[in-house]
Amino acid sequence: MTSNVTDSIVEWDKLEMTVRDVVGREPICDMHTHLYPPTFGTPVPNRTGRVNASGLMLWGIDELVTYHYLIAEVFRVVPSSQLPYETFWSWPKQRQADHIWQYLFVENTPLSEACRGILTTLTRLGLDPNEKSLSAYRAFFNHQDPDEYIDRVMELSNVKSITMTNAVFDDNERNRWLSEPTIAKDPRFRAVLRIDPLVRNYPHASEKLRRWGYQADSKPTPATLAEVRRFLSDWLDRQSAIYVAMSLPPEFLYPAPTADPVAAAGQCVLAEAILPVCAERRLPLALMIGSSLQTNPALRDAGDTVSKGDVPSVGRLCRNFPNNKFLVTMLSRENQHELCVTARKFGNLMPFGCWWFLNNPSLIAEITEMRFELLGRTFVPQHSDARILDQLIYKWGHSREIIAGVLTEMYRRTARTGRKLRLQDIQRDTTALFSGNFEAFLADR
Ligand SMILES: [Zn+2]
Repeated sequence: MTSNVTDSIVEWDKLEMTVRDVVGREPICDMHTHLYPPTFGTPVPNRTGRVNASGLMLWGIDELVTYHYLIAEVFRVVPSSQLPYETFWSWPKQRQADHIWQYLFVENTPLSEACRGILTTLTRLGLDPNEKSLSAYRAFFNHQDPDEYIDRVMELSNVKSITMTNAVFDDNERNRWLSEPTIAKDPRFRAVLRIDPLVRNYPHASEKLRRWGYQADSKPTPATLAEVRRFLSDWLDRQSAIYVAMSLPPEFLYPAPTADPVAAAGQCVLAEAILPVCAERRLPLALMIGSSLQTNPALRDAGDTVSKGDVPSVGRLCRNFPNNKFLVTMLSRENQHELCVTARKFGNLMPFGCWWFLNNPSLIAEITEMRFELLGRTFVPQHSDARILDQLIYKWGHSREIIAGVLTEMYRRTARTGRKLRLQDIQRDTTALFSGNFEAFLADR
């Protein structure tokens, strides 16, 4: 691009087209997903024939259609009084997928965001989203090679880097890291150390630590905390993790209520092991706050819900640990304004994404507009949270469109004051939003 072009003023009537074009072409660094490279194994039938039942790389039509969002939705249409939960769970995945396709896509109009996402994904892959059964899609996916297919999905979604979530307390995942030291050498993926049990249920986590060779007592004594720090350092080194992450319940409070010994122990581990290790290595700690587990246990993974979290606790963490960096996303719509205001007060707080039940066009638009109004462009507007590779196609396709629309409106407001907008301004802002802000927050030492 010549300087002549980059310096050009964008005319009012070209503004929307220009923003959509720049946003569409911008490669994305997806800062939080649950995706894996093929080295972690895949349970999905494919061209290579190397299928691993407990594999972690999920992709393909049966995984897409049985995503837990759609399981919750199909039980709205065929309630458990007609199809008991246990009957559904006893079926093989393909039969579950057939059931969901039949009732959400064939016998009903797919209107929800999760349903529309499947249609977008199929269409972008060159498939017809009007099929009455899944067999044509299965034939397509059976012919893919998982490794090549990752490249195709990243190209279609224009994602340049995928951030994993590596749950060290999950035995399946942990054993894979231990048995295959080069498991995460795929340059398309970066690792994140996920450690929820250390804070959510420290006494239980300490049992595992002892089994793994760390002298961690169930009470966080100084010697125990040193062992927890050693455990964290070992895993950060093993994974080359780019940050540390945990999901916290809506009830999370800092400081913890003293009447709750489990919460108090978790908080001690947070304050005296996790945060010091993160500060020493200049790694952010990501807090994902507000998911209430298993409000309907019969729905299993689809049974979690949302409640409001406590934003002042986030502010107190940012204030009391000024040498730490916090990436924070909250699940409740009602927490978003307070979180934005808190981010105005603390440079070590980076709000990110529109998570899970917020990942709907109306809410993404509302939250993104509010963030621009309160924070300029100093936030990370979105992460995919994809659990199934192919979801990158629709999650980013849909989000790009909405963010481009909001950004256009923000530029119009600025342009109405008489301020001229150059193409390079739009390019600089777009790069910051889709990768730069996150990378700068990681690199800030
Ligand atoms: Zn997640």
